[in-house]
Amino acid sequence: MSKKFASQADLEEKKVSFDKLSDNAYAYTAEGDPNTGIVIGDDAVLVADTQATPVMAQDVIRRIREVTDKPVKYVVLTHYHAVRVLGASGYRPQQIIASQDTYDLIVERGEQDRKSEIERFPRLFRAVESVPGLTWPTLTFKGEMTLWLGKLEVKLLQLGRGHTKGDTVVWLPQQKILFSGDLVEYEATPYAGDAYFEDWPATLDAIAALQPEKLVPGRGAALTTPEQVQAGLAGTRAFVSELYATVKEGARAGKDLRAVYRETYDRLKPQYGQWVIFDHCMPFDVTRAYDLATGHRDPRIWTAERDKEMWQALEG
Ligand SMILES: [Zn+2]
Repeated sequence: MSKKFASQADLEEKKVSFDKLSDNAYAYTAEGDPNTGIVIGDDAVLVADTQATPVMAQDVIRRIREVTDKPVKYVVLTHYHAVRVLGASGYRPQQIIASQDTYDLIVERGEQDRKSEIERFPRLFRAVESVPGLTWPTLTFKGEMTLWLGKLEVKLLQLGRGHTKGDTVVWLPQQKILFSGDLVEYEATPYAGDAYFEDWPATLDAIAALQPEKLVPGRGAALTTPEQVQAGLAGTRAFVSELYATVKEGARAGKDLRAVYRETYDRLKPQYGQWVIFDHCMPFDVTRAYDLATGHRDPRIWTAERDKEMWQALEG
């Protein structure tokens, strides 16, 4: 029997953890579902990635209210994906901040991405009718931006492309705590349907060069020691590198996408098959890698229709 499309068969609710990393930083994680980072400054709260709907954001807000009554002033989008940004309105922030590259992706493909992501993973869009529309940044930057939440320094850094072209990390230099978005995953499969495989390892090097002592990945548990941070970076790097090397080899040998997909799936399954959303991500990841290896420098836009056609071609 063929596999059910993407994560349409994934219906089991995950258990949420709200972990304190320092007096100023918390991680909202849920067993491999998309994470949200929380930074509490002297006078305001910053939220990094929002959850998928305003209704789902209420659970994050409830936990924030257990530790502070300061207002949520800033929402930072680490990148443009619907599952991380469409809950933004739930926080009623003063500013929604993203890199200019992320803004450009929302203009170019935000609408298609929203429709595609909702169909891929309905469970993650609980109360999807509460989403008022696309989330538009109110403040954009190129390269780097610093926010001062009172005496707490918060840096927003574009360290390079990887998961998308707009990837931004949130960095607390005084405490060496980093929120990576989907550039780093932990025991969760990196989604690479919009990725720049050739840039991603160098971007991970740039994260490592900051020497974070704690890191909140895009999915998976908060990493709370330098050793765990290293493991998260190494695992993500190994997956991305092995996948791209395998696909490139097949493409160079003149094999078609379906053949390369089977080969890559079989090669990676023993090592990474237990990571969450492995079966969901692999068709998208291999398709993007194959495109890149055959001359599509930038990711082609995923639409709900293209998603299904690709799935049928590779898994049907
Ligand atoms: Zn993403």
